[in-house]
Order: sequence, then structure tokens, then C-alpha cells
Amino acid sequence: MRPANQLPRLARSLFVLSAVAGVGACADASSEQAEPGTWTAHAVRFGTLPAFPLRALIAGSDTAIRIDVALTVWPLQAPDGDIVLVDAGFTREKFITQWKPTDFVTPDSALRRAGFDPARVTDIIVSHVHWDHADGVERFPGARIWLQREEFEHYVGADGSALDRAIDPDVAAMYRRLFDAGRVQLADGDSAEIRPGIRVYTGGKHTFASQYVGVQTEAGTVIIASDNAYLYGNLEGERPIAQTLDSLSNLRAQRRMLQLAGRPSLVVPGHDPEVFARFGAAGVGSVVVR
Ligand SMILES: [Zn+2]
Repeated sequence: MRPANQLPRLARSLFVLSAVAGVGACADASSEQAEPGTWTAHAVRFGTLPAFPLRALIAGSDTAIRIDVALTVWPLQAPDGDIVLVDAGFTREKFITQWKPTDFVTPDSALRRAGFDPARVTDIIVSHVHWDHADGVERFPGARIWLQREEFEHYVGADGSALDRAIDPDVAAMYRRLFDAGRVQLADGDSAEIRPGIRVYTGGKHTFASQYVGVQTEAGTVIIASDNAYLYGNLEGERPIAQTLDSLSNLRAQRRMLQLAGRPSLVVPGHDPEVFARFGAAGVGSVVVR
């Protein structure tokens, strides 16, 4: 997340975007479906960023509108209890001080409160390197950490330096340390399998190589968009996320998410509190996506 006053100028007007609506949708989605599986997908909330400017989330929105945004991690649970976690939230004190989240608990505490054992997290798929999604991985010391190779190489220097201001320097140094310790696995591009029934997809262009996740559940393919679609207002209004390197690619990715999903309502946006109203409660601060 970045505050609105630090946002790059929006590259394209909605007029231009609407003029190209309908072109560029991805090819045959059926060939890209992940394998059948029986994962269960949850959204677990660990806090709120109050009064966030809507314009920082949906390009072209009224500058006066502010909304409370949810801070979420997404545990995907296998029948044997193993958990693949999508994103790791944050724990570093400086982020808490700067951003002042309300109702904040650390992501591992949020999982525990929702009935998940953090020690069962075998893998963490980090959608992108921003602090509010990438910082919390060290709370899960046994987990493999998955990033796109291009994301890692674009943002994390060989010496642990931050190669771009989109990544926090402490987060960059941590990822280099974890990589050198053999904890980081690099996914190569689109539709890479993480575990049978779980694939990652690229093209969302929230960051250089941000990824989103498709998981096979009994309800069909669930798509965890993370910040590649912040809100239902992006997905349902066909509006790009405000913070993207490429608005047109982001719109294409959002359309593809809707095609990949078992049904459109199974695409889960990254920061929308409405997620916790649209799906059924399944523990404190948790809903099951189905
Ligand atoms: Zn982000």
C-alpha cells in the first residue's frame, strides 16, 4: 500500500480504458485450470487500515471518498491439515507505527484465533513484495516461501539491498537472507504449480511480477487475487487497480481471473472488507470461500 499522495500519476484515463474493453481477454481458460483437488480456501482478517482513500485503490474514484480496508491472509488447507498460506501480512513495528492499523493482530495470531495451527503452514505464496503482504513470513519458520523469480530479481539485490522503492529495505534484506538460507523458492512465470491443485498466475502488474493464486476446491477454482484486484469495485466495475505498472494488463488479468474461477464470485479481492460479509463465517475473523 502507498498513500495517495505518493502515487504515480494515473497513466490512462477511464475513457481510454473503456474504449478497449472487450479486447485482449485471455485465451482458452479451460486449458489452464488447475488439477482437481480438495483444498479449502479461507480468508482470515488480521486488521484494518481505516479511512483509506478510495482513489488509491480504484483508478479515477472520487478523491473525497475514504473506506476502511481489510488486512487479510488466505490459508488454503489440504485434507491432511497442511496449509499453504497466500501472503504473510506484516509484523514489523515500524509499519504498525506508520500505518496505524486498527484491530491488529499478527498474522500467525490471526490464524490461531481462526482455528488454524501456524505450525502446519508448509508453504507461503507471496503475491508481491509490498510490506503489508510480504513482511510477516518469519512468523512461519518452517515454511517454504514462493515468489515469482522476476519479482525477486527485480526488487532484491544480491547484497540484500532494495533495488526499487516499492520494496521496504528491511523486507528486501530479509528476503535475501531467507533466499541465501534456502527458504525461498522462485516460481517461473505463469501457471506454475506450487502443489497439486494450486497454481500461480502472472500479469496482474500490481508490481513488476505480482502473482495471483488459483486453488481447486469442492466449490470449483477459487482465485485469490491479492492486490491484483483490491476491491469488488475493481472486478465488478471493470476498473483497474490504482497502483499498477500497466492498467491495461491489470484489466486483462482481472478478466482472466473471472474466467479461471469456478464462478465469478469465487474471485477474492485483496483488501475488500465485503469479503467477510459475502462468504460464510468459519471461526473468529475468518470466512470460508465457497
Ligand atoms: Zn500491494
